[in-house]
Amino acid sequence: MKERRGSNNAKNSRETGRHSSGPRETVPVIMAREMVLFPHMVMPMDVPRGEVSELVEHVTSQDRMVVLVTPAPGGESGAFHPVGTLGLILRRVETQEGSVRILLQGVQRVQVLEILPPDPYPQAVVVRFQDEAPEAEIEIEALVKNVRAVFAQLLALSPQLPRDLGAMAANLEQPGMLADMIASHLEIAPERKQAILEAVQVKDRLRQILDTISHEVEVLELGDRIQSQVKGRMDKSQRDYYLREQIKAIRQELGETDDDRAFLTELGRKIEAKNLPAEALEEAKREHDRLKRMSPSSAEFMVAHTYVEWLLDLPWHESTEDNLDLATAQQILEEDHCGLEMVKKRILEFLAVRKLKGDQKGPILCFIGPPGTGKTSMGRSIARALGRHFYRFSLGGMRDEAEIRGHRRTYVGAMPGRIIQALKRVRSNNPVLMLDEIDKLGQDFRGDPSSALLEVLDPEQNDSFVDHYLNVKFDLSRVLFITTANQRDTIPAPLYDRMEVIELPGYTEEEKVAIAEAHLIPRQIRENGLTRETIRFQRRGIARMIANYTRESGLRNLERRIAAVCRQVAYEVAAGKSERVTVSPDNVVKYLGPPKIFPEAKQRTIVPGVATGLAWTPTGGEILFVEASQMPGHSKLLLTGKLGEVMRESAQTALSFLRSRTRKMHLEDEFFERHDLHIHVPAGAIPKDGPSAGLTILVALTSLLVGRPVRGDVAMTGEVTLRGMILPVGGIKEKVLAAKRAGIRNIILPKQNNYDLMLLSETIREGLEFHLVSRADQAIGMCLAEDKPAEAGRPPAKARIEF
Ligand code: ADP
Repeated sequence: MKERRGSNNAKNSRETGRHSSGPRETVPVIMAREMVLFPHMVMPMDVPRGEVSELVEHVTSQDRMVVLVTPAPGGESGAFHPVGTLGLILRRVETQEGSVRILLQGVQRVQVLEILPPDPYPQAVVVRFQDEAPEAEIEIEALVKNVRAVFAQLLALSPQLPRDLGAMAANLEQPGMLADMIASHLEIAPERKQAILEAVQVKDRLRQILDTISHEVEVLELGDRIQSQVKGRMDKSQRDYYLREQIKAIRQELGETDDDRAFLTELGRKIEAKNLPAEALEEAKREHDRLKRMSPSSAEFMVAHTYVEWLLDLPWHESTEDNLDLATAQQILEEDHCGLEMVKKRILEFLAVRKLKGDQKGPILCFIGPPGTGKTSMGRSIARALGRHFYRFSLGGMRDEAEIRGHRRTYVGAMPGRIIQALKRVRSNNPVLMLDEIDKLGQDFRGDPSSALLEVLDPEQNDSFVDHYLNVKFDLSRVLFITTANQRDTIPAPLYDRMEVIELPGYTEEEKVAIAEAHLIPRQIRENGLTRETIRFQRRGIARMIANYTRESGLRNLERRIAAVCRQVAYEVAAGKSERVTVSPDNVVKYLGPPKIFPEAKQRTIVPGVATGLAWTPTGGEILFVEASQMPGHSKLLLTGKLGEVMRESAQTALSFLRSRTRKMHLEDEFFERHDLHIHVPAGAIPKDGPSAGLTILVALTSLLVGRPVRGDVAMTGEVTLRGMILPVGGIKEKVLAAKRAGIRNIILPKQNNYDLMLLSETIREGLEFHLVSRADQAIGMCLAEDKPAEAGRPPAKARIEF
């Protein structure tokens, strides 16, 4: 201290709040920044070599008294705290490092009035505070009690405080000394200690001590809590770490790599990223967890992984945007197909409802018709018009339920069923799904696929279709299902009930020509690298191809024939043999060889005993001939041509009816007893059945027995009763088309089929004459030629037969 700091006096007295009494003393002073000495306490202090150590040396040789004063922080240099401690140097030791260590004992609090400049070392002018006599004051007593209790807590919490301080605190009688003792042992900031030192009044000092130690206890308790939490966390993470290390070691032992784990992490990320429905998400997570515990080289791992991949690959929420523009959709449908108005209308209606109501539910349609009538290509066109994906698979011959609904995962090589596979392929949940040949579903010990299909094709329940493999619900209600079939009879009835049936019965010759011109020919020209300049099809040429080279309701064979012609023309053009070809009725033979099909009804029916019938087959209508012949014998009826039970019975019925009319046919009484009759229906290898040939058999037999041939331009269908009534039959549209194809102009139909006739379009009916009959004799009268000469050896037949 170079200067006197007299100005401090007044201030210092005010701050202590109490005036010191007694004489002023001048005592050597040690300014100690970090240390506070309390009365009665002993404290070691290291003194560096220099001014202070000299002071110490001097004092040690005198009365050993010094005063310890703390400089005021932040104040002007030389400022000091107003209260210091008078101390006694108990011992002075020189350490090996060359500094000096002293042991100080506090004697008394002093008020520091002034610090004198060094001479040769600094001294302070001080006045001693007299310690107040302990007052038996209740407040002090309470404070002491509290201080002792809290201090005991503090001792328990802080291990670095010597244990015996507790006993000391309990035994110290003087409250002021108790406070000083505690303050000197606390590990608190020097400013805090200084503040306690300055609390000259005992009550004040005790309060400050209580505050301080309570605060310390709180801090320590909180510290403890934090530590135990941290420790808990540490413990768990250490345990986890340890376990993980173990797993790592085991995995290494099993030959698993980091790649495997990275792969699993990636899979987990994918599961989180994909917006799976809750049920699927849960299942995926469960499998993912299981995967983590499996060896990647195990078969089980592959199975579980494949399963998760399936879940991730399915279009749970992905759908294509429907093209709701009716005009565009209509244009696309028209562009792709001629006719088929019913189908087009139904699709446009669906779109309209979809547009107005926002209904997402897809209809379930069923196209029934012979092969080649455009069922499949219409399905594609519908998908194109709606802007949806298209997928098709065949149900034909499917016997196993699992093909539709998948195998349970417990099976080796289990897979989802075809429906789910299709959805994965198209990657949208609203495709057009075409299920072909629903009329050819099988059924055996592996289960019945139709029962699984029931769920798929039921609009009421297909929003929660459960595939056995996936084992979670998938919403199929937005899929537009189209099934196809050639015949309705073999479609399982419950399935048939659930679908909206649209019939595609086949085309007339005119329609075929039109479709060929608009679609088939342009497509084949394109596909064979030709142009309209190099090949031209005359309309009559096409008609010839249809009449002589195809016998079908649809267009498959016709398209094949057109393709065959185009290929050959392509060869001619490429080989430089011709530049431009016109396909006419005359040169069709050159390309397609001799005609395969003849209008045969006329030739076949030249002789008596042959009648032209109309039959329905899954591939469309057909004409068939029933041949009858007689021979001497014993009233046997021979039936050949692979006839089924019902057809055989029809023949029996017809014969019985005729026998009851023996006289009316001008036959001798014993005729049937003396003759055998044979009925044959070509082609002999194809099985035939059904009641609708009854009328044809009856007419053929009558023609034989009366010896008059059947008119070549007449074909017929109808069931005959024992009493000669004609009952209605099915498949009228197909049969009429078949008759027309075969060049027949007159068709005999049961009267009760009148309604079916009304449904036929103008183009079909054009050029045909329909004869509706309700009794057998009407039909016979109409179709037996009147003017043919009788067979040799027979009595001339009467011009008119009346039953
Ligand atoms: P299906 O599935 O009924 O057996 P497809 O769809 O395979 O019949 O049709 C056979 C061929 O005939 C296809 O090339 C198809 O484009 C064509 N076709 C059938 N009907 C029509 C039609 N109304 N308009 C245009 N092409 C048609």
